[in-house]
Amino acid sequence: MFKVAVIGSGPAAFYTAQHLLKSRSNVSIHMFEKLATPFGLVRFGIAADHQDAKKVANKFDELATHYQKEGRFQFVGGVEVVGSEDADAVANASLSQRRLPFSLLRKNYDVVIAAYGAESAKTMPLKQGRAVSAHDFVQWVNGHPDSIGHSDMFAHHLEAETAVVVGHGNVALDVARVLLDDVDSLRRTDVPDNVLQVLAESKVRHVRLVARRGPFQMAFTAKELREMTKLPNASYMPNELLSSEPYKSSDSLPWLDRSPKRLMQILHGSGDAKAIKSKSWALDWYLSPHQILQDENTKSIKAIQFQKTSPVSSVVPFGSKIELVPNEFVDMPCGLVISSLGYTGLPLPNCSEDLPFDARSGVIPNIQGRVIDPATKAPIEGLYASGWIKRGAVGVIAATMYDAVETADSILADLETAKPDASKQGFAGIQAHLGGKAVSYDGWKVLDEHERKEGAKRGKLREKVVDLKSAMRIIDMGDK
Ligand SMILES: Cc1cc2nc3c(=O)[nH]c(=O)nc-3n(C[C@H](O)[C@H](O)[C@H](O)COP(=O)(O)OP(=O)(O)OC[C@H]3O[C@@H](n4cnc5c(N)ncnc54)[C@H](O)[C@@H]3O)c2cc1C
Repeated sequence: MFKVAVIGSGPAAFYTAQHLLKSRSNVSIHMFEKLATPFGLVRFGIAADHQDAKKVANKFDELATHYQKEGRFQFVGGVEVVGSEDADAVANASLSQRRLPFSLLRKNYDVVIAAYGAESAKTMPLKQGRAVSAHDFVQWVNGHPDSIGHSDMFAHHLEAETAVVVGHGNVALDVARVLLDDVDSLRRTDVPDNVLQVLAESKVRHVRLVARRGPFQMAFTAKELREMTKLPNASYMPNELLSSEPYKSSDSLPWLDRSPKRLMQILHGSGDAKAIKSKSWALDWYLSPHQILQDENTKSIKAIQFQKTSPVSSVVPFGSKIELVPNEFVDMPCGLVISSLGYTGLPLPNCSEDLPFDARSGVIPNIQGRVIDPATKAPIEGLYASGWIKRGAVGVIAATMYDAVETADSILADLETAKPDASKQGFAGIQAHLGGKAVSYDGWKVLDEHERKEGAKRGKLREKVVDLKSAMRIIDMGDK
C-alpha cells in the first residue's frame, strides 16, 4: 500500500484524494487538518446565502465515509503541520491543536501533498489608518475559530452608515451583500447567532465598491454581479462614468472580451432611479486608496482619501495590465473601510527549506503539481501541491477540482514506476507524537451532529461551535 499524507482538508485535498482513491486500490490517505473541522473555505469562506455551493461538502462526506470504511482514508483534525525546526512550538502546542513537523510526514509517507490553501489577506498599503479586511469579515460571518470575540469589534464597525469596500472581486460582492441584504435572509443558514444579532443592529445603509482600475477590469463573475443588482432592499446607483465612451458602447467594441462585455450589459440593464429602497450601493473606478481620515476628537473614520487615476489608453481588454496616470486627491466620506484585495499563500509555519515556497507569487513552485527545487527546477520525489497553494488564490471550486485532478494524475503517473517503501510507517510513525489528541472523522461527525441539532432548535441549518476548545470538548465527550 502506498501511504499518502495530505496537508489540508479543503476542496483541493478532497478532490485530489478522490481521484487517487478511485484510481488505485493500493493507496491509503491520511488527511491532516489544523482545525477540528474539514472542508476549508467551503465551511469558512463561501457566503452563507450560497448554500448550494456549500453542498459540495456532502460529496466530500460521502467520499470520507466510504473510504474510511474500506480502511483507506483517515481524517486527522486539530493537527497543524509546521516546519521541522519549530521544536518549541511543537512542545508547547495547546491541547486543542497539535503541531506536527513536516519532516515527520516526509519520513513516514511515500507521498506528501500540500493542499493547505492560501489563507492570508493581501494588505492595502495606506499612508495612514488601517482598513478592516474582507478576510476577517468573511471569517467572522462564517464562524471561523480565529474570529472568536470579533463580534464586539464588528458591532462597533457596523455603526457606520456608509461603508467603502475596496476591490472589485466576488469576495467584495459577498461582503457588500451581507452588509446590505436583510438579515432575515441569513437566519435559516449557518451564520452564528451572535453574528446575526450584530448584523440585525447594523446601521450600514450605503456601500460603495471602489477599484483602482476601470470598468473593463472588474473581476466579478456575472452570476454574482447580477445577484447584487437584484437585492430586494438595496438600489444600485449607476456611476455616470458608464454613460461616457468607451463604456457606453461596450457592446460594440471589437477588442473587448466577452466577460467584461457581459458585466457591462448587467450594469447597463440595472439601476432603477424610481425604485425607492431603504439601502443603496454603487461602483466607483480609477481611485487608488491613499489614506484613511479620522475625526480628530472621536477618532472615528470620517473618510477615505483616494488618488484619482486615469488610464493611458481606453483600449484595455479584460485581464491585461493597465497603465494609470495619477491625478488629484479626493475624499470619500464613510465610517467604515473594508479592503478586499484578494488572498495569498504563505509557507508552512517555520518551514523554510523542506518545502520550497515562492514568496513573490505566494505559491509552492511546481510543475503540474510536482513540487520542484527552485534552483534546479527538478521535481522533488514524493512531494506534490494542489489547489490554491499550488496555483494562487484564484478560481472557484470547479477550477480547484480540475487543478486537483492534474496533481493526482501526476502522482498516479509517478506511482506507475514506484514501489511502496517498506520503511515508511505511515500513521504508526507519528501516532506517538500526536499523543492520541487528533480529531477523527467520527469525531467530526459528533460535532457535525451537535451543530445540526443546535441549529434545528433555532430553525436554522446549524449553529456552529466557533471556539476550537469547545469543539474539542464536544468531540471528546461524544467520541468515547
Ligand atoms: C471568501 C471566499 C468565498 C468563496 N466563494 C465561493 C463560491 O461561492 N463558490 C465557489 O465555487 N468558490 C468559492 N470560493 C473559492 C473556493 O473556496 C476555493 O476554490 C477553494 O476553497 C480552494 O480550495 P483549497 O483546498 O486549495 O483551499 P482551502 O479551502 O482554503 O483549504 C485549505 C485547508 O487547509 C487547512 N490548513 C491550512 N494550513 C494548514 C496546516 N499548516 N496544517 C494543516 N492544515 C492546514 C485549512 O484550515 C483549510 O481547511 C470562495 C473563496 C473565498 C476566499
